[in-house]
Amino acid sequence: MNPLVPREDFPILSRSVHGRRLVYLDSAATAQKPAPVIAAVDHFYRYTNANVLRSAHALADEATEAYEAARVKVARFIGAASPAEVVFTRGTTESLNGIARGWGDKFVGPGDEIVLSPMEHHANLIPWQQLARRREARLRFIELTPDGRITLEAAQAVIGPRTRLVALSAVSNVLGTINPIPEVAALAHQVGAVMVVDGAQSVPHEPTDVAALGADFLAFSGHKLGGPTGIGVLWGRETLLDAMDPFLFGGEMIAYVDREHATWADLPHKFEAGTPHIAGAVGLGAALDYLQAVGMARVRDHGRALGEEAYRRLAEAGVQVYGPAAPRAALVAFNLGPIHPHDVAQVFDAEGVAIRAGHHCAQPLMQWLGVAATARASFYIYNGSDDIDALLHAVEVTKRYFRR
Ligand code: PMP
Repeated sequence: MNPLVPREDFPILSRSVHGRRLVYLDSAATAQKPAPVIAAVDHFYRYTNANVLRSAHALADEATEAYEAARVKVARFIGAASPAEVVFTRGTTESLNGIARGWGDKFVGPGDEIVLSPMEHHANLIPWQQLARRREARLRFIELTPDGRITLEAAQAVIGPRTRLVALSAVSNVLGTINPIPEVAALAHQVGAVMVVDGAQSVPHEPTDVAALGADFLAFSGHKLGGPTGIGVLWGRETLLDAMDPFLFGGEMIAYVDREHATWADLPHKFEAGTPHIAGAVGLGAALDYLQAVGMARVRDHGRALGEEAYRRLAEAGVQVYGPAAPRAALVAFNLGPIHPHDVAQVFDAEGVAIRAGHHCAQPLMQWLGVAATARASFYIYNGSDDIDALLHAVEVTKRYFRR
């Protein structure tokens, strides 16, 4: 399989590492940036830079226009009913914390239940642990199948009349599982609970339509889909965002302030206290344009095919792989017997192959797998089967190295 896009679109991919072609297999941590994103950020700072929503001059108007145009692009990309439902944050982590604070503190109470899964990233676990402590609520976990999937029966077993909120990743950053979000959302809605979707690993790879997902809230990061770091999105249904409290307070989020009181601005500005990452939003908009031109259905098919090919070839080479064989997302976690994943990653790095090793911010999942850590190779639109060849070669080199 060839890369879906020209590698030349991504300037960093032309550099070498330790004298070898850079084989970048760590896009689930952060994706590389196409030239149009780099150009958009550069252009913003060269020609448009000013603060937004504040000043009455040409640059301020243009900066505000560029910032709000990015919001419209995000709304279209995820099928939001209105740009007012799109809140810019620093990323998935801040978005999920914001929901836990702004919605959770107000609407979750003693004895209420928050339903999660054991595969959640810490960003979609710890905010709920903390909320449960503050509000005396209880966490419940949907048990996984042995190959790391969520079944509706397992979801049904824990979603009930006390459930206030279900928070799940649409795609696991370790197992590569693609979760049945619309079906779980339907179960949540049957009992009057809200469905929070961690889209950090899904929005970059799968066509996203918040209505089709049945989501009430969606969180994702710009940097995993080719945009800048430090910019992300909190999407919520307008009625929920209206009912929810702000979670950051300060400039630009108010309607009126006196010495003792304040009232809030309309959506989405009520949630955007302080100077936002304006250039980041502009860069995110450029990344979405790039992906849209490629076509998200093709991005999905390419990523799934690479994930499945890597899983199959690693398994055939006798490597311990984790999660379902297919369908699977564009990543695969693995272990080479007793060799520590950090050592694996180091030998791979010497071969020019960049992978991640560790617990992937999913320690409860490591406990469920019964391992301390794993290696992980993850793919994006600039990867092809030649990169999987390099992965398999690095596996052989590592095995040979540790046999000595
Ligand atoms: N959820 C999942 C599933 C992730 O993979 C990540 C990033 N590793 C996050 C949340 C957190 O994203 P960020 O660090 O961009 O806030």
